[in-house]
Amino acid sequence: MTYRHYFTHLDCSATGERYEKDRPQNLSAAGKPLLARYDLQKAKAEIDRDEIWARTGGFWKWRELLPVAREEDVLRLGEIDTPLIDIPVAAKSAGATGRVIVKDESRLPTASFKARGLALGVSMAKSFGLKRLAMPTAGNAGAAMSAYARRGGMEAYVFCPEDAPEVNVQETCLQGGKVFRVNGLIHHCGALVGAGKEAMGWFDLSTLKEPYRAEGKKTMGMELAAQLGWRLPQAIFYPTGGGTGLIGMWKAFDEMEELGWIGPDRPKMFAVQSTGCAPIVKAFNEGADHAEEWMDADTMAAGMRVPKAVADFLILRAVRESGGAALAVTDEHIERCWHRIGAEDGLLVGPEGAATYAAMEMAIADGLIEADADVVLYNCGSGLKYAMPDTSRTLDRHKDIDWNSL
Ligand SMILES: *Cc1c(COP(=O)(O)O)cnc(C)c1O
Repeated sequence: MTYRHYFTHLDCSATGERYEKDRPQNLSAAGKPLLARYDLQKAKAEIDRDEIWARTGGFWKWRELLPVAREEDVLRLGEIDTPLIDIPVAAKSAGATGRVIVKDESRLPTASFKARGLALGVSMAKSFGLKRLAMPTAGNAGAAMSAYARRGGMEAYVFCPEDAPEVNVQETCLQGGKVFRVNGLIHHCGALVGAGKEAMGWFDLSTLKEPYRAEGKKTMGMELAAQLGWRLPQAIFYPTGGGTGLIGMWKAFDEMEELGWIGPDRPKMFAVQSTGCAPIVKAFNEGADHAEEWMDADTMAAGMRVPKAVADFLILRAVRESGGAALAVTDEHIERCWHRIGAEDGLLVGPEGAATYAAMEMAIADGLIEADADVVLYNCGSGLKYAMPDTSRTLDRHKDIDWNSL
């Protein structure tokens, strides 16, 4: 199968300055993220949404709207379209009377939606002939980068804070990454990646410091629209760290409208963070365009433990344009909801996924959305990656058992 390509160039997300697509790029001269641009008018005349949606291959099916041109650069590890799962009982418990669905991204390779972004970022790195990749990570991104890098015959150097979840460090090692625990926070790890660049000759794949991870995350928006019959829900709750997914989806909605695939209606976008690390929420509430660094970040939801996001202004812009909000929920609330979704509907989400549900509960109570709204919650990683509370019971098989007490 050969695909048509419409990728033309990159734009600075702040100044609009144009950048070439035929060499590796990081941030713009203004220090802001670059975004990939396509000839959508040409694409509109030549490609068909339903033909594309009927393909197999998970997020790689959207090839015409992705930057990777050559088939040999496409790295695959069994990508799928992730399921939409109803949680009818827990929805009711949160006061929702409409349809509440979880988009369960934990079923992707490396058990998190980081696979979408890193598959694209690493495949593009391969297309440029890069051999050595590096990044700071709170956990899941390092695992996904290592897996796809090894798939493509590249080296992966991963730097994580000391308190990164054990399982992320181990899975990264097992997928061929060189992982280092650093005595510091995520931005200290980021500084090391920058400092080692010259000596090590690696390419920096940090969140939004290169343009293609956001393109991979964009596929979440396309997939969701297709799964809902080319409509969008009324509200999306997204667990926000660096914001790649929220920014990517917002971009996807505009591109799909330009292609004539969807109409002008947009969901309210809710950026969800923990009260232990809520820089975007603080900036949103203060009406600021940029977020200050959050000091002493502390939350069990590691995926949202990002004290400073390089694309803060893009997250805030999308949330405001959509009529949504940035909401912070406490770790206690997250933990309660984590149990509730599992106990009431049999779905094990991660704490970040539970946080989106907690924020929905808050949004309904505060009147930010109608109780009967159609809502999509993003569960971005597997609950199995976290230390889970032990609520087990014991039984002594040598004693008489009082069956009615079980
Ligand atoms: C990375 C991550 C997030 C945050 O995603 P961004 O797009 O960087 O905001 C949320 N949850 C999980 C499980 C993650 O791994």
